[in-house]
Amino acid sequence: MHNILEVKSLNKAYPEFALKDVSFALPHGYVMGFIGPNGAGKTTTIKAILNMVGYDTGEIFLFGKTAKGAAYNDLIGVVMDAPFYVNDWTPADVERAVAPFYAAWNAAAFEGFLRRFSISRAKKLKELSRGMKMKLMAAVALSHGAKLLILDEPTSGLDPVARDELCDLLLEFVADEQNAVLFSTHITSDLEKIADYITFLLNGRVVFTGLKEELMEQYSLVRGGREELNRIPKGLLIGVREYASGFEALVQTERLLELPRGIGAERASLEELIVFWDRGRAIQ
Ligand code: ATP
Repeated sequence: MHNILEVKSLNKAYPEFALKDVSFALPHGYVMGFIGPNGAGKTTTIKAILNMVGYDTGEIFLFGKTAKGAAYNDLIGVVMDAPFYVNDWTPADVERAVAPFYAAWNAAAFEGFLRRFSISRAKKLKELSRGMKMKLMAAVALSHGAKLLILDEPTSGLDPVARDELCDLLLEFVADEQNAVLFSTHITSDLEKIADYITFLLNGRVVFTGLKEELMEQYSLVRGGREELNRIPKGLLIGVREYASGFEALVQTERLLELPRGIGAERASLEELIVFWDRGRAIQ
């Protein structure tokens, strides 16, 4: 089967920033975490996928077909970091406003999500908490027959319980193998729980795309004393952090044997991978 989403050599230049040959593919049935530091280009890539901004070169395929000029409103559910709706609206108003745009609007499903999330139909959006508003957007995104969910940092500022509920929702969604999720977030612990694939952007370039487990196995976190640092071949350590008594850095796991004895290695978290890679780029 074709991939649900495929981005091929996407290039887009802003005056002070550019996406450079961004490529990745998301198969059906999986969650892909889309990660990278602030300004890496995640939102720009997502907007290009959603036809919200143009791009210079490259191709985007959705559901096996070119995305240029195509309207996939029904098939893509979008949850952004801020709701698009008017603050004086109630969830009932939101439904009235959005339902006509979707051929496959499922009022019963929407009602079910409102009940599940304890969101009153009659409360104005400005009276809802940030978590409630995010859940309302997720309810809309999941009530029009979407096969691909795209989330752009919807969880920043949410408490762990609300985030956990969202993660559960995403896992339920991809239990249907026709579906898939592209999830951009800075809360990498959520991705450690639910992502199958990771695409890692740094300064407009993809530095890794593939299975999360492969990424986590490819790099290890090492720590040692200051005196050991001088004995390590240059170029082996990524993003070294030195402190009074020692150092820590990332190393490609397959190169661990090149380190002097006595240096401990452990599995790096996704967050550590981002931080050390970013620091490595700053040092270069
Ligand atoms: P964050 O994690 O902070 O949301 P991001 O990875 O989503 O970051 P983008 O929002 O894609 O990053 O921004 C990437 C770069 O593109 C930034 O340097 C930003 O200033 C620049 N940029 C975004 N939109 C425009 C625009 N319309 N005009 C010019 N530059 C832009």
